[in-house]
Order: sequence, then C-alpha cells, then structure tokens
Amino acid sequence: MSDITRIKIPIPFPIRSVNIYFIQDSIPTLIDAGFHSKEGLDTVEHALRTKGVRLSDIKRVLLTHGHLDHVGLAGKIQESGGAEIFIHPRDRDKCIWDIETYAEKKKAPFLRFFKQGGLPDDILEAITDQMDARFKLFFPGDFEVMDLEDGGSIPFDDFTLEVIPCPGHTRGSVCFFDRENRRFFSGDHLLEKITSNPIVELETRENGAGYKSLSHYLESLSLTENLDIKEVLPGHGEPFHEHRKRIKEIKEHHHTRKEEILQVLKSHPTVPDGMNLFSITMSVFPELKAWDIFLGMSETVGHLEILEEKGLITSRMVHDQRVYQPEN
Ligand SMILES: [Zn+2]
Repeated sequence: MSDITRIKIPIPFPIRSVNIYFIQDSIPTLIDAGFHSKEGLDTVEHALRTKGVRLSDIKRVLLTHGHLDHVGLAGKIQESGGAEIFIHPRDRDKCIWDIETYAEKKKAPFLRFFKQGGLPDDILEAITDQMDARFKLFFPGDFEVMDLEDGGSIPFDDFTLEVIPCPGHTRGSVCFFDRENRRFFSGDHLLEKITSNPIVELETRENGAGYKSLSHYLESLSLTENLDIKEVLPGHGEPFHEHRKRIKEIKEHHHTRKEEILQVLKSHPTVPDGMNLFSITMSVFPELKAWDIFLGMSETVGHLEILEEKGLITSRMVHDQRVYQPEN
C-alpha cells in the first residue's frame, strides 16, 4: 500500500502547527502545501529527505482549501520541480496573491465587514496592521493551479482518492476520501480538538447577503457523517477515529452557541435600534483580542444568519451598521 507520511509544520498562530501528508507513489504527491516560512520549508525538506525524496521530486499537490497555512509552499514546490497544483475552483481566488492589488482585493472586503459590524476604530487599526504584516510576511508567491472536480477521482498506484466537496470552512473546502481503505483527509473541515470555524466569505458578501458559511458547514458535516470512515487525517492535530462522535460534538457545540447568541439579544431588548455584530460577539466571547475578534465575528454572524432564517431575529441597516433584534 502506498506509504503515507504526516509532516507536522510549526506555524506562528495559536493553532501552532499544520499537517501536510506525503504520499509515496509513482506520482509523488502532497496533500496540502504547508506554511511559507524558512522553518516551514526546512521541516518539509527534512521530512522528505528521510523518505529519500527531494522537494523537486513532488509532482502533484492536492489542496484541501485556500488558506495561508495550507497553500504556503505551493509556489516553492512548483518552482522547484514543476508540480501540478490542484484546488477547488471556489477557492481558486484565495490562492491568487497579487501584492499589487492586495489592498483593494483582499483588504477592502474586511474593512467593509468590520465597519458594518460596528468594530471600534482602535481595534480596526490593530487588526488591519496585523493583517498587513501577516500577508506580506507569509505571501506564498505566484503559482499555477488546476481545478479539482466535485466527486472526481484521483488515481494512485494502489488506491484512489475521491474529491468530496465540504463547503463551510471555506467555500471551496474539499476532503479526500480513500473509500477502499476508509481513510479521510479532512483539511480543516473536521478536526479532533478544535471546532472548525466556518469563516465568513467576505468576497461574496454585499450588505450582509451572500454565501452562508455556517449553514453550509453544518450540511457538509451531515454528509461526512454518512461516510464509512475509519481514520481521519486532519489538517491540524493528531489523526483520529470515531468521526461520528466528533461530528455530534461539533453539532452540539454550534447548537449551544446559537442559543447563547439568541439569549444575548433577548437580554438586551432595551438597546435602542438593536445590537451590532461587534457588541454581540464581545458578549459571547469577551476574552477575544485583535485577529481573533474577526474569527469570533465570523462565527457569530453565521449563527445570526441561521437565527434570522428561522424567523427568531430580524436585522436591518441603521446608518452604515447592521443591527439585530429578537423577534417578538
Ligand atoms: Zn483553514
């Protein structure tokens, strides 16, 4: 059976490390491309060397999604050996890192989201400084990508990986399923210790409408629940078993969170004009700072969208902010 090696790469974020997987095959393949830093590159090269492989031997990279800690070394790998790099078309834009248009394309939607959410100016400034520094430091470079197809199969010498679309964490998140051996490369869709954060898709949002990350995430979880999986090989943390137990916990977590958010709104009925996203987020997650406030707002807005869809709350624009109120 093709040999699979997990390579754990350190990253300077609270999550601390990211996993990529090397599959020894007649087409040497990586699942995900890790993080763009000297330490990241050294870690990958060292791990490959123990298998008698160089970075330039890698001929195929399958990306689970377009986040910085998963695509980071894709450019380096392609440059060194001409590897083909595959990603779902809905995450293709996340891989295009034109430093010239960064401010307009990547940053502007964040600023709109924060303004509409009522983020105070001093926090906004701290977050955007952090964003600028991060994007410049970890800029993964340019590379060519090819499309992964929903349900498509990717052949290896002695097994096949199926592309399972799992939108939610990002719009173009996919998992790779080896149905025969019941192995499931889950990217950030399913993690054992961390509740995967369905991150708001800023590029597709206009005035609060658009793609609903959390709803899609919960649907993708249900789909995953039905698969016959023995081992989950995740994007962060250790491989694990019993995926259905984990999915149940995640669903319960989100259910509790949704109730909590509804209670926050109900317990502030006298706030004139309702509450904005920032104040709701800080009531639920008072300990959050800087960039993590964005992640908290992402999760909160997902629940608010579901609550509004169910008719339990309403929202409207007041000046340039969206405000939420419980339905009577
Ligand atoms: Zn991610």
